[in-house]
This record gives sequence, structure tokens and C-alpha cells, in this order.
Amino acid sequence: MPPLLRFENVTRRFGSFTAIRDVTLDIEKGETFSLLGPSGCGKTTLLRMAAGFDRPDEGRILLDGRDITHLPPDQRPVNTVFQSYALFPHLSIRDNIAFGPKLKGWSAAEVARETDRMLDLVDLTAHAAKKPAQLSGGQKQRVAIARALVNKPQVLLLDEPLAALDLKLRQRLLVELDAIHDEVGITFLYVTHDQGEAMSISDRIAVMNHGVIEQTGKPAEIYEAPRSSFVAAFIGDTNFLDGTVTTAGDRFSRCALEDLGEIVIDNDRPLREGEQVHVSLRPEKIVVVREKPALSGEENAISGKVEDVIYFGSHTRYWVRCGEWRICAEMQHRHYQLDASPPQWGDEVWLRWHANDGYLLDRY
Ligand code: ATP
Repeated sequence: MPPLLRFENVTRRFGSFTAIRDVTLDIEKGETFSLLGPSGCGKTTLLRMAAGFDRPDEGRILLDGRDITHLPPDQRPVNTVFQSYALFPHLSIRDNIAFGPKLKGWSAAEVARETDRMLDLVDLTAHAAKKPAQLSGGQKQRVAIARALVNKPQVLLLDEPLAALDLKLRQRLLVELDAIHDEVGITFLYVTHDQGEAMSISDRIAVMNHGVIEQTGKPAEIYEAPRSSFVAAFIGDTNFLDGTVTTAGDRFSRCALEDLGEIVIDNDRPLREGEQVHVSLRPEKIVVVREKPALSGEENAISGKVEDVIYFGSHTRYWVRCGEWRICAEMQHRHYQLDASPPQWGDEVWLRWHANDGYLLDRY
């Protein structure tokens, strides 16, 4: 079965600037797929090409196996939800939602039935007669979603739909969007620069940087197994450890970190002695302890001095100076809740982690 939406070797240039460079991407039917990346990486440009507001200079866009590259927006079975809602201010909420179906010449009964269904879906039946100005930001965005979904698109394109809302509302609407997706079963293509938003709503994510896709995968794959330094740093926080392989093993290898001695790393690909390696180690994988721990052959412990401590309620972050390295460790409070004296600024501590907890990066 072909993917529902396919970008095939798509390139888009603006003058001499290449905004999208040879992107190939498959989005499967029914999934919520996010394009995630920093400002200017090309997310919106890709989305606009899927909507038909923009065209690739090279490559094709296929929907259900059909080439739609040159199809005008109104002939594509896709609808877009924008950050700015783009509602008609003079029309009621009901008429905003009914606008598309009426234009398409649906019967009055069908327009009424589907509009009611959408009002119910986004929980705005009680507000149907109001004008957009009488609604909150979150409610307006729900109208925009209903107005797009009533057309029964094959793909709903969402361009930073929650960016204008405050944090609490954003979190609530994310849950609601997820529930709406489950109910309607339509494919969502979601653009965001917010990694938390992408991680929580997506079945799969494509991480973009400078017009290319760095990595595509399920949220946990991208978080646990980032393929590049960019992905490791963009999705959550991480420590980068650079070293030289001293003993190459089949599964575990030893490598020397400048100023720190040797650590053991888990290598999922063959390494050569003398090879430079780059390991991503997430703060929450490191345990901070006071006493030098007894280790198995696959564990690491390095000593250092606590330089900064920030208490976040559910967890505490430590920045520990270990020779020339400044390493960040995050401790959930259950780790030391029985310890009457958690480490403080200036304390000598040990940082402990298992070789499996570090992730060998493919590329720098
Ligand atoms: P943001 O999160 O800030 O919206 P984005 O990842 O969606 O960023 P795009 O809007 O796709 O980024 O833009 C990608 C790059 O292409 C940017 O450098 C932008 O300045 C450039 N660009 C986009 N549209 C045009 C245009 N019409 N003319 C010239 N340059 C453009």
C-alpha cells in the first residue's frame, strides 16, 4: 500500500537560498506526523507545498499514490489549520463551520447535520450562535479545527496551531486534539518547533534542520536513539562526551575522555582503536552519589564537584565539574528521598551510569 502522503525528492529554492533540500518523506494513513525543527528549518514550506499554496522546484508530492504536485489548493483533499485561526469575524461559529460545505453545494440537511457533529466534536455546541470575538483563544482554535474537519479532508495540516495560546491551554488543547484525532481517524500533519508538543501528540516525528530531515522515527526512538548531535541536543537536553577508542569490543568498548580517564561505551556498530567517538548521555540517565560506587564492568563512575544545583520540585538538576567537563545530571527525587542530605553546591560526588545509557552518535 502506498503511503497516504509522499514527498518525493522535494527541493524548494527562494532565489539562491535552498529552503528544502531533496526531502523524501512518507506519511502513513491515520497517523499524527509532526515536522519538528527550529525556526527557519523549512517546516512551513513543506506544509504549504502539501496544501498547494507553494510548489516544489524539483520533486513530486503524491497523495494516495496520485501526483498532486500541480493541483490547486481547492482541488486537494487537504485542509489547513493556522496559528492565527483565520476565522470569518462577521459570521457565527456555526456559519464559520458551515461555510465550506455550503460552498461545495452540500444539501441543507447535510450541512446542518455535519455542522452539528463538528460542534459536538469540539465541544462548542453551546457557543454556536456566538461570533469569534466572543470566544477565548482555545475556543477559536477549536472552531478552526472543526471548520477544517467538516470538509472531511484526507489530511489535516496543522501549522503551529497552539503557538498563540498560553502553556496551560496549550497542554489542554493538545489532549483534546489527540482525542479528536482518535475519533475522526484522519491523518494529521503537524508543524511545531516545540519538542514537548511533538513528542506528546505524534505517532512519528521528522526532525528538520536547514531544509533537510535529520531523523524520522517514533518519539521514543528519536529521544532514546538520536542519530546526530543536532537531534540529541534539540530533543531534550544531553551531555556530549568526545573520546578516543582505546579497546574496541563487539558490544562494549573502552574509550578515553581527555582529562577524565577511560569510560566504557555501548557500541551498536563496529569501532576501531584510535577512532574518535561522540556519545550522547542524557542528564536523567546519570545517578549522583556521594560514595564511590562498586561497579560492574559495564558501568561508569567519575568524580567531580557540584557547581550548580537547581531544584525543580519533581526533580533536581546538578551541574558537576569533572576535570574540563561540566556534566549535567538530573535526579528524580525518589532516588534520594530516603537520603537526609542530598548533594549540595560544592560537594564532592560521583556520577554513575551504565554503558547502555550513553548513545553513540553516527554523525557529529
Ligand atoms: P518558523 O518556525 O519560524 O515558521 P519554518 O521552519 O516553518 O520556520 P519556513 O517558513 O519553512 O521555516 O522557512 C524556511 C526558510 O525559507 C526560512 O529561512 C525563510 O526565511 C525562507 N522562506 C520561506 N518562504 C520564503 C519566501 N516566500 N521567500 C523567501 N524566503 C522564504
